[in-house]
Amino acid sequence: MARSMIWFRKGLRLHDNGAVIAAMNGSSSVVPVFILDRWHCNPDNMGNIRFEFLMQSLRDLDCSLKQRGVKHGIIFLQGEPEIILPKAWKAFSIDVLAFDDEDENEAHVRATDTLIKKYAAIAGVRIILQHSHWLHSPAEYASKLAGTVPTTMTQFRKLLDQVGQVPEPREAPASIPDGDSKYEDALVAFGCPSFSIPDDDSFYSSLGRVRAVPKFPGGETNGLKRLEMQIFQRAKWAAGFEKPKTSPNSIEPDTTVLSPYITHGCLSVRQVWWAIRQVQCQANVSSKPPVSLDGQLMFRELWFIVGRLSGEDVSDMEGNSLCRNIPWGRDDKARDRLSKWANSETGFPFIDAIMAQLRTEGWIHHLARHAVACFATRGDLWCDWRDAARYFDRWLIDADWTLNHCNWQWLSCSAFFYQYFRCYSPIAFGKKTDPNGDYIRKYVPVLALIPAKYIYEPWKAPREVQVKAGCVVGEHYPHRMIEDHLATSKANMNKIKAAYDAHNQVENERRQKKKARIS
Ligand code: FAD
Repeated sequence: MARSMIWFRKGLRLHDNGAVIAAMNGSSSVVPVFILDRWHCNPDNMGNIRFEFLMQSLRDLDCSLKQRGVKHGIIFLQGEPEIILPKAWKAFSIDVLAFDDEDENEAHVRATDTLIKKYAAIAGVRIILQHSHWLHSPAEYASKLAGTVPTTMTQFRKLLDQVGQVPEPREAPASIPDGDSKYEDALVAFGCPSFSIPDDDSFYSSLGRVRAVPKFPGGETNGLKRLEMQIFQRAKWAAGFEKPKTSPNSIEPDTTVLSPYITHGCLSVRQVWWAIRQVQCQANVSSKPPVSLDGQLMFRELWFIVGRLSGEDVSDMEGNSLCRNIPWGRDDKARDRLSKWANSETGFPFIDAIMAQLRTEGWIHHLARHAVACFATRGDLWCDWRDAARYFDRWLIDADWTLNHCNWQWLSCSAFFYQYFRCYSPIAFGKKTDPNGDYIRKYVPVLALIPAKYIYEPWKAPREVQVKAGCVVGEHYPHRMIEDHLATSKANMNKIKAAYDAHNQVENERRQKKKARIS
């Protein structure tokens, strides 16, 4: 019987995990491995909150593996996977390596995967690639695509209908055959005292990190609890969910906050899909896609299909045929504007509060993401969406390379959504759902005592009011970066229109040339 290794990457769970099932199939023993690589360690790639979410998820997985008979739990290794894995195959006498190819879109992972496949072939290790990160596998979608990849929800729903019913999630195995007989030999081979997940402060400081305390703690156990709490215990709410009616600035989240669990694979998206379907079926009235909760998962699926099957690099603008080229600001001045935006120094309390929530909690509401993304790009600051997306990628606890970049393209009107004349106001938008500004008071405490009348526009408060509130604009809180939002956004709309006109001209010329060639 074969000895298998499961390489856990983002599928940090035991339920509905294709790699776990594949590794167990026909194996006498299973060695679970996680590799913390240079990319994970760099705080510029992954902020401290997401990093701790990841570590918590690993600890939870470790416990679950031990409960199922894997004596030493997960083998925690540090280094580059293409170097570490061949060493681990040898040390643990591995015949089969199973892992999820869910990460393939991410540039830093692509090259690694190619090398691992090459080294596995040399070492005679059979690779089993699984896919459990989408509702259906990329191959299933690809088999139904008639040439064009969907870029709208309507097109995606047609494809989903063709692919058929979403498979039901598979249960976690009750027990897993232990592969630890080689544990001691492997410790010698790696020259380390233990393969345990580090839990001491020195580990964090050795990476130049501070240990964070995520508001939403990581792990499959917490993910399943959150699913229970958000979907089954709030069945009526979940069944009638309408995204546009939720609030970007409620003190407690107004949507499910399942995203960090789904992104890290602590929750199977199929588990979430079927939970939603169950409460929808039981409800008298339920909302419909795209605004419903299953509609939200459809957006996720749509972006993955675009990212994986279109052949375009969704993190870029140049050379990406789906993305309209807009001459965004990318010089030092633009970078300086972006840095102020990222550090809550725009002088617009609603925008600054959202960015403060992002930096301190790692999660912000979808419409809050809309507000700050629009502000940073077409709305006010005219910064390049690719530069702004880097901040989200670093700080979001649910950061996903494809979802993040596709959403940034949408918000900047670079792709998928082109109604550039519809622009979020950094003042009026937040007022609708939080006229008293409680959200601002929480996340920008220097504004806590500003009267509600001025909380979204503190510069309008008479000086004596500012002094009384202990917050003088220009002294305790920055002057607004943009003097006149309406005029600026109007000027930006004109720039986008010019870029669209140029795009259309190029497209027309291309079509005419093609027509001429055919005739
Ligand atoms: P809910 O509204 O409860 O939705 C349930 C689930 O549906 C989410 O957990 C998520 O998995 C999925 N979902 C919802 N909306 C979207 C969407 N527009 N696109 C893709 N999936 C969606 N989401 C990420 O998971 N990772 C990202 O890196 C990310 N970056 C974004 C960047 C920008 C600029 C914007 C505007 C949106 C981004 N989103 C991203 C999408 C969305 O904002 C989050 O998925 C959602 O806010 C997470 O909160 P929730 O779990 O409460 O969502």
